[in-house]
Amino acid sequence: MSNAITMDVGSDGIAVATMDLPGRPMNVVGDELMTALAHVVERVESDDAIKGLVLTSGKADFCAGGDIDRMSKWQEPREPFEASMAMKAVLRKMETIGKPVVAAIGGHALGGGLEIALACHARIVLDDRKLKLGQPEVKLGLLPGGGGTVRLPRLVGIQAALQIMGEGDDIAPAKALSMGLVTELAKNRDELLAKAKAWCLAHPKARQPWDEPKFRFPGGDSRSPAVAQLWSIAPSVAAAKSYGNYPAVTHIMSSVFEGGLLGFDAASAVESRYFAACAMTQESRNMIGTLWYQLNAIKKGASRPAKVAKSQVRKLGVLGAGMMGAGIAYVSAKAGIDVVLLDTTLELAEKGKAHSQQLLDKAVKKGRTTAEQRDALLARIRPTTSYEDLAGCDLVIEAVFEDRAVKADVTRKAEAVIGAGAVFASNTSTLPITGLAKASARPTHFVGLHFFSPVDKMPLVEIIVGEKTSDETLARGFDYVLQIGKTPIVVNDSRGFYTSRVFATYVMEGITMLKEGVHPRHVEQAGLQAGMPMPPLALQDEVSLSLSLHVMEQTKKDLAAEDKVYHPHPAEEVIRQLCEIGRIGKKAGRGFYDYGDDGKRLWPGLAEMYPPADEQPPQKELIDRLMFVQANEAARCLQEGVLRSVADGNIGSIFGWGFAPFHGGALQFIDAMGPKAFVERARELAALYGTRFEPAAIVVKAAEEGRRLAG
Ligand code: NAD
Repeated sequence: MSNAITMDVGSDGIAVATMDLPGRPMNVVGDELMTALAHVVERVESDDAIKGLVLTSGKADFCAGGDIDRMSKWQEPREPFEASMAMKAVLRKMETIGKPVVAAIGGHALGGGLEIALACHARIVLDDRKLKLGQPEVKLGLLPGGGGTVRLPRLVGIQAALQIMGEGDDIAPAKALSMGLVTELAKNRDELLAKAKAWCLAHPKARQPWDEPKFRFPGGDSRSPAVAQLWSIAPSVAAAKSYGNYPAVTHIMSSVFEGGLLGFDAASAVESRYFAACAMTQESRNMIGTLWYQLNAIKKGASRPAKVAKSQVRKLGVLGAGMMGAGIAYVSAKAGIDVVLLDTTLELAEKGKAHSQQLLDKAVKKGRTTAEQRDALLARIRPTTSYEDLAGCDLVIEAVFEDRAVKADVTRKAEAVIGAGAVFASNTSTLPITGLAKASARPTHFVGLHFFSPVDKMPLVEIIVGEKTSDETLARGFDYVLQIGKTPIVVNDSRGFYTSRVFATYVMEGITMLKEGVHPRHVEQAGLQAGMPMPPLALQDEVSLSLSLHVMEQTKKDLAAEDKVYHPHPAEEVIRQLCEIGRIGKKAGRGFYDYGDDGKRLWPGLAEMYPPADEQPPQKELIDRLMFVQANEAARCLQEGVLRSVADGNIGSIFGWGFAPFHGGALQFIDAMGPKAFVERARELAALYGTRFEPAAIVVKAAEEGRRLAG
């Protein structure tokens, strides 16, 4: 027997089986764990002295989910189908041995981990707010293939099950209890085991509800009138969100629907077929490649200089307590860092701190934190106007107005106080870091830390390396970003850096279409169909047209000063024309849209300024333009060395501006279709719409050499 699971039988006849995969930080579902579980089940079945089984974990988590390394090796549908059927055979046997089996869950039970727990007769869970239960498979383009789509609807009802599996979000223990997913909660680990054993002793002949002769689905099966009504709406609700871009969502619904008409075993087999279908999709490969492998590599420090020792920020200075500064102060204090929050008046600095108070009050109300934790966090933020308070800071981040002179002034004042070894960072969104570092007496210690708004929600920080930024400074910036629980990407200095530069191409392409006579509704629809979180014209309104115009004017001036030619984008004229008539965006209540109390509507005047052509292009053409223009610009960033790795490009695009996740990121978009096909289509688009589609040399080269950008 493998030592993946150890088992002890107590004097009460209850066996406690502890999952603890050797050499792994977490328990994951794969051959090793399932073979060991099969042995445990056999022993429990055959040994008359054993009266029941408690399944628990020797690691921090109960079981984190499927073994992705194994999944990513699957080449043909037979492999996932067989793996799924084999897992289910063990689980089915476990729940039908005629003895009680209880899961004692003291840490996360996700994906395959929760499916193992669902095959137990009861689930006792540690009452810890941070403990996660859930079926997140959909987020990697998969469906729960270990019986999740069969057992969950039979346990909590079809509607709740669809919600859990279709969204893939975590469920906290208390909520899981209220929905019937969990049997009982336990206050601590001792109580967890005690309650699990007690449950076994109290239910010597435990059977699953679905094995009872009179079993009924809670809320009805797929035939029942109430559920039939749900089925007439659910697919269209899902399609309205996913635009058919996520096959796993459809497969989950099909599996639950068909499973709701069938007996348990037939439903299980149907699920395995849908699981195999999901595992073979390009979408799943894209998401696993980027959101699993590349993300993990980044978090492990792939883009961090390896030789520099790990560092921690204990005291942080934030200059400017506006929207961004206030957010940076909050996320840092939340990570246990002492924060000095400085602005020009104490009132402004305190207003910045009040932002944390508001977020925390809401969290207390929702039960996500306690009043004590809130007060402790707030005590770590010190509002001030005095630079002297920055003494002892390991890191200072400026988030003052986007103005070179103001930024230079605060840089000098802060550097006069902080230690020689402290790092100074700018949160500028547009000004090149190398230029800003000229105000610094120690440009080696100067770096860009580009946060996104709203800071408490957005997961990415773009680290910008200036010409003189040292490896040590970069590493310290990187460590800080991880310390506050965000994901860092590292880019070299350039106008717009990476994220703002590529994001802008999406919005500008949409505006160009409008100018060419594409109906604005078609433009907006194409953005959503492409899988972007917001359509281009609405996004431009959010950013504000006046801000974009200001950035364009500044760029023009900067290029003139460097004796470089400025090539205006075709969309620039539209932005200028709308600004001239005061339609500067959402903040003014008027831009491409009119904003009212009842929401927003496309401004009817657009039709007069940019009359729609009689013949409208197919949506597919618009979608291609919106995606190719971004992917091509991302490839140019890679070619110019603005991007240092493909992983940074992909993760930066999904986390930074919401590039359609099912494509696996802006560069994976190219690799998924193959550089050769990309080059061909990009050239067609260039001939029709302009040189911005001319494929980046780095893609042309990859196409010629028959390889991918990711190597
Ligand atoms: P904001 O106007 O909300 O806040 C700026 C704050 O800086 C104000 O409270 C102001 O009083 C303070 N300030 C100005 N001069 C100062 C000085 N000399 N000393 C101390 N404080 C001073 O602006 P914001 O949106 O928070 O942006 C701040 C920076 O972050 C800018 O560089 C901006 O480009 C960048 N940024 C903004 C966003 C965004 O979405 N808003 C995103 C990324 C980066």
